[in-house]
Amino acid sequence: MDKLAKLIETVQRHHPEENLDMIERAFAFAREAHEGQLRANGAPYFTHTYATALVLAEWRMPPVVVIAGLLHDVPEDTKHTIKDIMERFGHEVAAIVEGETKLSKLRYQGQERYVENIRKMFVAMTKDIRVIIVKFADRIDNLKTLGVRPREKQLRTAIETLEIYGPIANRLGMGEIKGQLEDLAFPFVHPEESAWVDSLVAATSDTKQVSCALFQKQITEELRSRHIPFLSIDGRMKHRYSLYLKLLRNERDISKIYDLIAVRVVVPDIATCYAVLGIIHQRWKPLKGRIKDYIANPKLNGYRSIHTTVFCEHGEIVEFQIRTQEMHEDAEWGAAAAWRYHERGTKTLPERQLRWVNELVRWQRSITDPKEFLEGLRLEVLRDRILVFTPKGDVIDLPEGATPIDLAYAIHSDIGNHATGARVNGATALYPLDKPLENGDMIEIIVDPKRKGPSSDWLTTVRTNNARGKIRDMLRGNLKLKMASWIGHVTPKKRR
Ligand code: MN
Repeated sequence: MDKLAKLIETVQRHHPEENLDMIERAFAFAREAHEGQLRANGAPYFTHTYATALVLAEWRMPPVVVIAGLLHDVPEDTKHTIKDIMERFGHEVAAIVEGETKLSKLRYQGQERYVENIRKMFVAMTKDIRVIIVKFADRIDNLKTLGVRPREKQLRTAIETLEIYGPIANRLGMGEIKGQLEDLAFPFVHPEESAWVDSLVAATSDTKQVSCALFQKQITEELRSRHIPFLSIDGRMKHRYSLYLKLLRNERDISKIYDLIAVRVVVPDIATCYAVLGIIHQRWKPLKGRIKDYIANPKLNGYRSIHTTVFCEHGEIVEFQIRTQEMHEDAEWGAAAAWRYHERGTKTLPERQLRWVNELVRWQRSITDPKEFLEGLRLEVLRDRILVFTPKGDVIDLPEGATPIDLAYAIHSDIGNHATGARVNGATALYPLDKPLENGDMIEIIVDPKRKGPSSDWLTTVRTNNARGKIRDMLRGNLKLKMASWIGHVTPKKRR
């Protein structure tokens, strides 16, 4: 099909009421502007901006975003300016393209350049989330055509994708975009491991698919016979890179991965989610400890769904994921979801995520050393997060792997400095201070007012920059120990 017709047809499928003239004009403008320029693979440069726009259209982005995709490299690489774009295509398109241009203009080299790039992405995120969405689409096409680049360039781009772009997409709740980015980058970073995962999947997916289809059929019949409404029941294959990470956590044993293919049940409302869970458990025996209610306790990135893993008649083990349509859309598209249905989504992130990004922007301003910045980013910001509770019911968000000490310092530095023990979920036994907490845990920190301060061993087990900084300060003797009252947060140690 003709390139332009294909692009317009893709946009129109989801935004039928839009006036698509402007896409046609932007298409012609970008092609002419990049006339004579070639990509590394020898194709006209326009094939890249076109492919970026097509990815955005496939993500169901509205015309304004698709047009920004077509024009995203114009100010950087051609004689035309942002002003030209504004006059021809209006303020909104110009603003997104300008954000894009700022992101790509970098004065630095090496690690500093890398760090600067990330800093700019964070700042851009707080202003208009569409800039990041276009950046992701741009990166998708760069990864698809990375094969012709020198090995060093391949590694740089692909590693940056796995370390930065993927985790950011994840924290923005854009599961589908994260999966696409990571799966394209994975083979460049770990060619042998990626081939190994492919062969594992090829060897197991046929039988898995058959049993999954059987489960789909059985659950469909079960729901129909009980007149339980549902919107769809599908089997979904796990993304390759996230499967790989899970294999690494499970002795590389694929038989331990229960959600290689999961059965996804989408229903009209929350009450029906729980009804479906009940029906699944009546028919099949659930695996202990594998029922996860992310509706009652959403993940920090907003993910909501109920997961359960069951044994079926023939001994197969299958994971079910139960959710409403809205949760489904949020899980796959997160902060981008609003733009998929409406021309007028909100420019900024939802409150919860905006708070996170703002904190990030504030934090990164205080760090001048690029090494320290990258370290902090990897350790805390880009990890998965967990939510834990204080006895008072305050919710505290921590990076995955965080310990009671991280929590203690998150409440107050004096609590951290005096912590001697912890109890988790009301258990009488003490919980090790260096043991990672789990999402949803309720933690009671036990303090000893007589304690002389933090132990230097804690530095090796804490996960937050906050706790690490405060422990270091204390050990250097920069701060005086103080003991105040933090009613309800802590339990003083009983003295004999
Ligand atoms: Mn580009």
